[in-house]
Amino acid sequence: MKIKRGIPVSPGVAIAPALIVGREANAPAYRAISKSEIESEIRRFDEAVSIACEEMDREIRRFDRRVKISQQILESHRDMLRDPVLREEVAKNIRSGLFTAETSLHRVIRGYLRHFEQMESDYISQRAQDLRDIENQLLSVLQGKKDLAIHQLEEEVVVIGHNLTPAETTALDKAKVRGFAIEVGGRTSHTAIIARALQIPAVVGVKAITADLQVGEMAIIDGYTGLVIFNPDRKTLEQYRKKASIAAQYYRELLKLVRLPAETEDGYSISIAANIELPEEIHNALEWGAEGVGLYRTEFLFDGSLPDEEKQLRTYKNAVKLLRDRYLVIRIMDLGADKMSPGPTPYHEQNPFLGCRSIRLFLDRPEHFRTQIRAVLRASVYGDVKLMLPMISDLEEIRRSKKLIHDMQRDLEREGKPFNPDMDIGIMVEVPSAALTADQLAREVDFFSIGTNDLIQYSLAVDRVNERVAHLYQPCHPAVLRLIRMIIDAGHAAGIQVSICGEMCSEPAYAVMLMGLGLRSFSVSPIALPAIKKITRLITMKEATEIATACLRFNNASESQAYLARRTQTLMPKLW
Ligand code: PEP
Ligand code: MG
Repeated sequence: MKIKRGIPVSPGVAIAPALIVGREANAPAYRAISKSEIESEIRRFDEAVSIACEEMDREIRRFDRRVKISQQILESHRDMLRDPVLREEVAKNIRSGLFTAETSLHRVIRGYLRHFEQMESDYISQRAQDLRDIENQLLSVLQGKKDLAIHQLEEEVVVIGHNLTPAETTALDKAKVRGFAIEVGGRTSHTAIIARALQIPAVVGVKAITADLQVGEMAIIDGYTGLVIFNPDRKTLEQYRKKASIAAQYYRELLKLVRLPAETEDGYSISIAANIELPEEIHNALEWGAEGVGLYRTEFLFDGSLPDEEKQLRTYKNAVKLLRDRYLVIRIMDLGADKMSPGPTPYHEQNPFLGCRSIRLFLDRPEHFRTQIRAVLRASVYGDVKLMLPMISDLEEIRRSKKLIHDMQRDLEREGKPFNPDMDIGIMVEVPSAALTADQLAREVDFFSIGTNDLIQYSLAVDRVNERVAHLYQPCHPAVLRLIRMIIDAGHAAGIQVSICGEMCSEPAYAVMLMGLGLRSFSVSPIALPAIKKITRLITMKEATEIATACLRFNNASESQAYLARRTQTLMPKLW
């Protein structure tokens, strides 16, 4: 039995054989061919391309709408595989160098990559990754090492690997992938957020997880504690089977609360909405009692380019319809850093989290966002739609964004396309400079939503996806608590709504403290809705205020953390 520890990011217990992903196909060993083998090597290459394309076509057909992004990625890979220029160059290498099909392919792709390396652009690095992917794919076929793809599964597995990108995570076959554990990432990385959305138990930041692991070894992923256990002994396996069934039972109990109001024992109402990445999540969110969608992360619509205005309008209208009369907060695409990469921009970012991303990209290249803003504006006549601007760091960005939105409203007016001129426009407060000037910003917008995922990252200077500094990512750090308090007070003083959509509020103990700090509106991962509902019904606002006041006085995060655990342990059973 081997035990590894990582960061638990999506609750649940998964028990299944391990499937290792992301190991690159080996660079081919050099072997010279004779002249008589030339034509058969070229034929071997052609056959490998057809096999790889057929595999991709099969995978593309297996996708449902949930994984549209991944489908598009595969389609573009398939088109690259079929590229006649690639075929010609490989054939030329086989003929002139007397190389095998594998070596020729390797040489051609390395040549492209060397060329790409001289160009500084995120878009180009993305394309370089595509080339590596297709090289791996063809080498696997040529070397007869068909690596099992994650969406082509026949048996239940847990996925183990170095990394899963957000797109790869979205594409996991939920019926077969019981859980995953990877080496990179943190609690608020997008991959982690998607794991929660898909309700797949997950652990990230596990050091050297694939080292001496065999495909098919039995593995346990504990999404509560962050333990990953390989080759468990019989006793451990039994314990975990029991744990999985207790957890399922506990969740069933929580679900009984979903139709009851989120109201404290002393009569304070709390509004609990859901964060979604895809409209398909709305169904579950409503089932689990969401009062609306407090954050729709639209970057998942983006895949190098955006769907056109009409298509986006249909997506947003459909979300409004699914929500019936509940509100929908659509956030402008928050591109860059850990999110989708801004394909059409020519920027190479030395420091992506601090670069030209998110609202900065919007202001720099508004033409790329035009279809989105127009579609949101047009969707606003169908229901309670609000628009949210991410990563605002000063007043000027709000004014410039509003001016651009205003210009787009005028265009729609001229074209006779209806929109709601009074649609609320709010901002994410997730950058310390915005928190510190929240009193100024509050005068310009209709609402604030506190984005603690980034607020913690930026105020503590801790990369939210870097497992090596994950221990420094502390939601209860006194600096974070003071900033949150400032935002709430400034928003309330200006008479605007202040809610929170960072992952922090999906944890019951933090939610209590945040209520005590003055928050009455939460937007949480759908899977967390029932537990947050439960805690609001078990506590009084008097107790919550007492808890928040104590946390504000502590000198460091660990004191707050220990105190919170003590104060809430009798309210929510600590499952493990
Ligand atoms: C946040 O930063 O807290 C947030 C909710 O947005 P995201 O996780 O998408 O950056
Ligand atoms: Mg953010």
